[in-house]
Amino acid sequence: MDLKDHIRGIPDFPKPGILFYDVSPLLAHGPAWKTAIDRLADAVRPHRPDVLVGIESRGFLVAAPLALALGIGFVMVRKRGKLPGDTVAHSYDLEYGTDTIEVQSDAVKPGQRVVVLDDLLATGGTMAAAVTLLRRIGADVRAAAFLVELTFLNGRDKLDVPSLSLMAYD
Ligand code: 5GP
Repeated sequence: MDLKDHIRGIPDFPKPGILFYDVSPLLAHGPAWKTAIDRLADAVRPHRPDVLVGIESRGFLVAAPLALALGIGFVMVRKRGKLPGDTVAHSYDLEYGTDTIEVQSDAVKPGQRVVVLDDLLATGGTMAAAVTLLRRIGADVRAAAFLVELTFLNGRDKLDVPSLSLMAYD
């Protein structure tokens, strides 16, 4: 099955000149979505994660079913101010301004092996920030995994862990 049949390019979103890769049709198609999760499970399993981390918000959609498929737990990395209790934050630069992500301080036990999930790898800034944040709470980050990678943006060069993706666009 060619999963790219279920990815839609939407021109000029969210800004003029940007081609947005919409994963909604993939999630909406039962057999294709199951195939995607099965293939990600095969790619991620060799990294032997103890827990999976999803990055808000589309990363949650990938990490939660994948964690169930692998029989392991799921942890959220969220935008600032959304998580209760003790949290650790990390701010990172965007094209204009900065953004802050957070994780609960006890979400991962020191030394636990984690694989981090997002729907799409573009410049790599979001995933690099999540890896830095997770290391602050002692996580052993083994890999980053995505449905889609935009290879022309060289995002994997920003990551010091293996980068796994099901579909690439160049
Ligand atoms: P990066 O930080 O790698 O430049 O951007 C990746 C983040 O932005 C991911 O969290 C991803 O959800 C979102 N993103 C950026 N461009 C796209 C796109 O074309 N399609 C989708 N689905 N997400 C995108």
